Amino acid sequence: MHVSKQLTQIKALVTGGAGFLGSHLCERLLEQGRDVLCVDNYFTGCKQNIAHLLKKPSFEILRHDVTWPLYVEVDEIYNLACPASPVHYQHDPVQTTKTSVHGAINMLGLAKRLGAKILQASTSEVYGDPEMHPQREEYWGHVNPIGIRSCYDEGKRCAETLFFDYHRQHQLEIKVLRIFNTYGPRMHPNDGRVVSNFIVQALQGQSITVYGDGSQTRSFCYVDDLIDAMAGLMNTPAEFTGPMNAGNPDEFTILELAELVLELTGSRSRIIRKPLPGDDPKQRRPDISVAKKNLDWSPKIKLRDGLEKTIAYFDEQLA
Ligand code: NAD
Ligand code: UDP
Repeated sequence: MHVSKQLTQIKALVTGGAGFLGSHLCERLLEQGRDVLCVDNYFTGCKQNIAHLLKKPSFEILRHDVTWPLYVEVDEIYNLACPASPVHYQHDPVQTTKTSVHGAINMLGLAKRLGAKILQASTSEVYGDPEMHPQREEYWGHVNPIGIRSCYDEGKRCAETLFFDYHRQHQLEIKVLRIFNTYGPRMHPNDGRVVSNFIVQALQGQSITVYGDGSQTRSFCYVDDLIDAMAGLMNTPAEFTGPMNAGNPDEFTILELAELVLELTGSRSRIIRKPLPGDDPKQRRPDISVAKKNLDWSPKIKLRDGLEKTIAYFDEQLA
């Protein structure tokens, strides 16, 4: 009773709250008894993702672009605002860098004024096309500063720099989470990322577009597992800042993913090849020993099970 009373008093700000991960996070924070303010400019997110939360008195939304300052009163900030799909973040690369960098400055400034703790949704992209495998947090990465992915990769790297400088210079309580490929319900059907692309293509009987020879690898984490890690990280002791990897260490080639989606959907779509986009990382798998040690966290949901839930979601959406 005492604990839940305390929690209802905590006000959480989620930037990018109408997006894929943000909407799941808003849900989780409401379940934990937080008051939640969801801020979004609806560039890639949509109101439909959070429509079911609108009737809850402790949930509020605000249309706002984080590249502009924000004046609100909250106790903790989850900074997720930023397009995550390569197709979307390359659509307006200048705005992508602004969102990461100006967005981080604005949210860190807000956290500084309020004495609020702040979490950054960073990414495995800070490792670029990695030469260390699996990727550990100590690895500084292998990133092209002038390529088509740089607006996202370097924007996120600069955001991490800002987080650690605010921590050192202004004693801000920060948490930096490096998220590896995450999938699940509420990904946008035209998102362009591989899991949603393959599922939508399979369900609609279109060809499955494998870029390159499909031998590049990714490690796919189901959204519920990822949200466990994100919520857990925010509740670690103040001295634990991260960066902390969160992702599923089970690694698959893109071709294996295509075949699994075909099997699970029962689709008769055929696999076709398309050119590999520039700077596409060849391999990616998180080392999650830091998360295991500090949060006792590891993902529970196998790719096959997570894909089944995601396929059921898209099946309903596309019906
Ligand atoms: P998403 O595109 O579904 O969500 C991003 C949200 O941010 C959207 O609702 C979008 O409208 C909003 N947004 C974008 N620019 C904004 C701005 N300037 N001001 C306010 N809102 C803005 O993507 P997602 O997968 O939910 O990713 C959320 C966060 O997690 C991102 O920061 C992303 O970089 C990070 N991340 C995600 C993954 C993943 O696999 N899903 C992996 C690594 C990192
Ligand atoms: N990919 C693919 N077909 C698609 C979409 C993506 O083969 O229709 C590949 C892409 O080239 C990359 C991997 O799948 O090697 C993951 O791509 P995604 O855009 O999901 O995320 P990334 O990890 O590259 O940021």
